[in-house]
Amino acid sequence: MNDRTSLKSLLLNLDGRTYQAYKDIKGSYRFPEFILIIERVQGDPFASPSKLIAKIPKSVAGFPETLYSNRIREIAFRDYLTRQFDRVSRGIGRDRGSGKSGLITIPPMGQEILERTTVLINENDLEIRFLVGLPARGRSILGRQAAELLCEDVPDAIDATLKYHRLSEKNIREHVETAEDADYIRAHLVERNLIAFIANGSILPRRSGIDDRPLVEDAVPFQSPPGLEVAFTCPNRGEIKGMGIAEGITLIVGGGYHGKSTLLRAIERGVYNHIPGDGREFAITNATAVKIRAEDGRSIAGVNISPFIKNLPGGRSTTGFSTANASGSTSQAANIIEALEAGTEVLLIDEDTTATNFMIRDARMQKLIASEKEPITPFIDKVRYLFTEYGVSTILVIGGSGDYFEVADRVIAMEDFQPRDVTEIAKEIALEHPIPRYSEGGDTFGDLTPRIPLPDSIDPGRGRHAVKFRVRDVDEVAFGTEDIDLGAIEQIVDPCQLRAIVAAIVHGKEKGYIDRHTSLPAILSAILQDIENDGLDILTEFPQCDLAMFRRLELAAVLNRLRTLRVK
Ligand code: ADP
Ligand code: MG
Repeated sequence: MNDRTSLKSLLLNLDGRTYQAYKDIKGSYRFPEFILIIERVQGDPFASPSKLIAKIPKSVAGFPETLYSNRIREIAFRDYLTRQFDRVSRGIGRDRGSGKSGLITIPPMGQEILERTTVLINENDLEIRFLVGLPARGRSILGRQAAELLCEDVPDAIDATLKYHRLSEKNIREHVETAEDADYIRAHLVERNLIAFIANGSILPRRSGIDDRPLVEDAVPFQSPPGLEVAFTCPNRGEIKGMGIAEGITLIVGGGYHGKSTLLRAIERGVYNHIPGDGREFAITNATAVKIRAEDGRSIAGVNISPFIKNLPGGRSTTGFSTANASGSTSQAANIIEALEAGTEVLLIDEDTTATNFMIRDARMQKLIASEKEPITPFIDKVRYLFTEYGVSTILVIGGSGDYFEVADRVIAMEDFQPRDVTEIAKEIALEHPIPRYSEGGDTFGDLTPRIPLPDSIDPGRGRHAVKFRVRDVDEVAFGTEDIDLGAIEQIVDPCQLRAIVAAIVHGKEKGYIDRHTSLPAILSAILQDIENDGLDILTEFPQCDLAMFRRLELAAVLNRLRTLRVK
């Protein structure tokens, strides 16, 4: 194997030559402390950067095994090292010519601790995958800069990232222990009949709508009302107290601007673990919780929305409802049914993003429009059955309708950003001021019909080509010839998750899991089982640094938004 010195002279010799000549450096090089693999070389300085891998023996890296002694610790440990590399490489990589020349980079990371394919722990070594912009002026190679970049800066970045003695022991430990404690709470919610927990002292508000870091100034820390307080004894931090939200139906009420949506958003994100300092480290939610919203304009493929919608004008079937352009209410109905199909146990709904006619039909409207003329059975008349028949809980932010008091198990009021348990008062009010509204939609939720997707309808490569996809941020992906709009899927938090989801769909397709006999839930399980067995790397032909683990629910959500999707 070549070494660092030979790579250096190779690069110096390339100086001034045309960019294509960089292809010669593909291969493996033995550096004093690690092996550097140049896996893929970019075609020009403006193209996506070159892919590199470094492998450092565990004995050289020197991390104690306790930092990755179980699955969640390992994920958090790898996440920590990835963040470290991100920080260090930003400081080291610098402008060295045209385009991306001189860049050392990995995909940006948010506040969530996710399993990623950037840093891996193998049998004998730690592996890091990253991207480098090979330096050029115009299209001619800058050999000296390239030698500096690959033979000095890259080793510096690796040294500062993957060596135990270079890092803060306290910070790594905190990262790993925080994730482990959060996971512990999530795993123990069910046995306590809880669906969510928000620790006292949590900071829920974010810096801005486009900045997910915690609000620093004037953030009011969360404090549980005494009656809802529960405690968990976590493996590392010991006792953590906070508000427990029990299963069943929970309303979050309160005046405008008092923090209702902020609380619900923290609950949405509580399906993930957060980095220390985020403020939501111990805002923990049932791992299957799904945000449900109206999403008019989306496509729907053969969904049985009849529990909510029947007798559409023109006699259209709603037991296998398809449309290329859903209305607010039909989209919200489909979003719920699809989430149930994918296995959710908790629905999260915010009045800010719902279709009003889907949520409620009040007494006066019931008088004016006969129910035979109204296709929609509002959610208020189904939410109870969803729990009693399917065990699915709902947390609902609703400041505008007291009709829901009747069906709620508990009512939490947000006042000046603090929760108060107002269940008793709300129930009293419901008794004192009965409403003449009658319940619609029968005395059962209705049937759920699992769908069987047709293979030809999930075919982004059009049967022939290798599938190309391009992820634009978290809310849109070009998949083959199709664009999928994911703006309403709020729990995809990282573009790397979306990239992995699309690769997973292609994987499922190639494996033949979509075969006109297999139901959608079984397809999801087969794909996820492969990833669980062999890791995210099985989704791609070559090792990638930019995949992150996703949930079953979001895999289903992306599939369901493929406009070509058809079911049997
Ligand atoms: P609502 O849904 O009740 O109308 P929001 O949750 O949208 O209210 O919150 C309104 C504003 O208050 C937002 O700008 C939010 O960031 C801020 N906010 C929410 N919770 C807190 C808090 N605990 N401390 C400080 N500001 C907060
Ligand atoms: Mg709101």
